[in-house]
Amino acid sequence: QAKQQGKDGYVVFKSAMHSQAVALLQLENDLRRALDRQEFRLHYQPIVQLQTQKIIGFEALTRWQHPERGLVPPSDFIPLAEDTGMIVPLGQWLLQEACSQMLHWQQQFPHETPLSICVNISSRQFAQNDFVADIRQTLTDFPIARSSLKLEITEGVIMEQEETVAEKLKQLKAMGVRLSIDDFGTGYSSLSYLQTFPVDTLKVDRSFVMKMGHPDSREIVKTIVMLAHNLKLDVVAEGIETQAQGKLLKEMNCEYGQGYYYSRPVEHHAATNLLAKSQSDIIEHQTQY
Ligand code: C2E
Ligand code: MG
Ligand code: MG
Ligand code: MG
Repeated sequence: QAKQQGKDGYVVFKSAMHSQAVALLQLENDLRRALDRQEFRLHYQPIVQLQTQKIIGFEALTRWQHPERGLVPPSDFIPLAEDTGMIVPLGQWLLQEACSQMLHWQQQFPHETPLSICVNISSRQFAQNDFVADIRQTLTDFPIARSSLKLEITEGVIMEQEETVAEKLKQLKAMGVRLSIDDFGTGYSSLSYLQTFPVDTLKVDRSFVMKMGHPDSREIVKTIVMLAHNLKLDVVAEGIETQAQGKLLKEMNCEYGQGYYYSRPVEHHAATNLLAKSQSDIIEHQTQY
């Protein structure tokens, strides 16, 4: 009897694994075709100067409009794209798309400091031999101000690729491209890389901002902001959802932020409207004086 059950259990387990594997394979297949079928979209989330709420740039965030599944979030397909190597052509596409869009915006909305565009770079993409050459080519094809391209990498990328990372970062820096550490505070405990590598910006991870009601998280955020300033780095707080969080961050002298409180990531038309509004608010503000 017990043996029988065990056997049945095994069969059930096996078939569940099987259908999971099939589903994953299917998704992988779909992912391979998604680029050709133009199913990827970029959404843009404003990054604001907290004091003025003025938009200083955007983070480009990739969306996959799947014909049957609908919108697939990046957490579901970026890891798969990494595993299959699809991240390389996808990464090239989205970098070009983001720079092409930013070129329009910089022409339409000229600022003293040009609007910036932040692009997430995954580990495997960064590891490519021709990564730096690709960036250079993209900036030739879409000649945005070089310092307005901000590449976001995580601490993990720096730690995993220690031998090659220094040279690549040096080349990117020489090109004028900026570098941000994404999800700062969630990775490795060693901070020494901040001295040795030409990092420009720390992005305080959303998990700390979210819990800022608690004194511990508040202290962590405060410490990261101070660390950034002492090292002459910019600091951006991620995931600001409430006015109270924005206010606390301003009090800590955190200059920049992004989050649902200011805007969710939106498609480019909506982002253009936000820019137009941000600019007219500033003009109104200036004419008051
Ligand atoms: P990330 O780079 O840390 O991006 C910020 C994520 O936080 C985005 O999620 C954004 O929609 C979300 N977010 C922003 N403000 C808020 C807020 O106030 N509350 C909450 N709850 N969430 C907020 P998204 O777009 O789902 O992307 C998730 C992650 O996927 C990104 O984290 C990034 O690591 C990765 N990713 C997204 N697009 C790309 C891409 O084009 N290339 C690569 N390599 N990775 C990407
Ligand atoms: Mg990011
Ligand atoms: Mg992040
Ligand atoms: Mg991230």
